[in-house]
Amino acid sequence: MERKFCVGCERTLPATSDYFHRHAGRRDGWHDECRECRRRSHKAMIKKQQQSDERTTIRRVAKLIREGHEVPEPEVIIRVAYKHFGGSQGVARAMHEVYDDPKSPLMAKMGVLTAFTRLLPAVDEARRREREADERRVNAMSREELDEHLARLEQMFVEAMVAEANTHEGGS
Ligand SMILES: [Zn+2]
Repeated sequence: MERKFCVGCERTLPATSDYFHRHAGRRDGWHDECRECRRRSHKAMIKKQQQSDERTTIRRVAKLIREGHEVPEPEVIIRVAYKHFGGSQGVARAMHEVYDDPKSPLMAKMGVLTAFTRLLPAVDEARRREREADERRVNAMSREELDEHLARLEQMFVEAMVAEANTHEGGS
């Protein structure tokens, strides 16, 4: 049986489609690397590309935050980032990578830290729980308590408006 040397793992394997992919451009009709090696390099290439994409995304978000911009539509970014990085652990790992990189400037690290606090699901979760608790509190109120609560809010609103009006009068 004809045999073929793989330039990847340097094994000499049977020159059959069990071991090598066909390649029309090669003189002998086979790829230089065996199937196993091709699979390995393909995976490595995809991983490298993903890591590069991750870094670009993280840097872009960190740059926005660093420059004082709001992160546009955090929910969208979170969804995309989670999908791309493979969940919150992936996001954390990618950010940590930027943070740990000795070449990252201090501001980039600060950006990552800020992004962490803004993007971590724990923050959103906490906010959601807070909102829900607030709703529950209002729902749990009796009619009288609710009236009182609303009256208090109204009073606060009026006071805020009066304070605002006074500020403007004093300024002119
Ligand atoms: Zn090989």
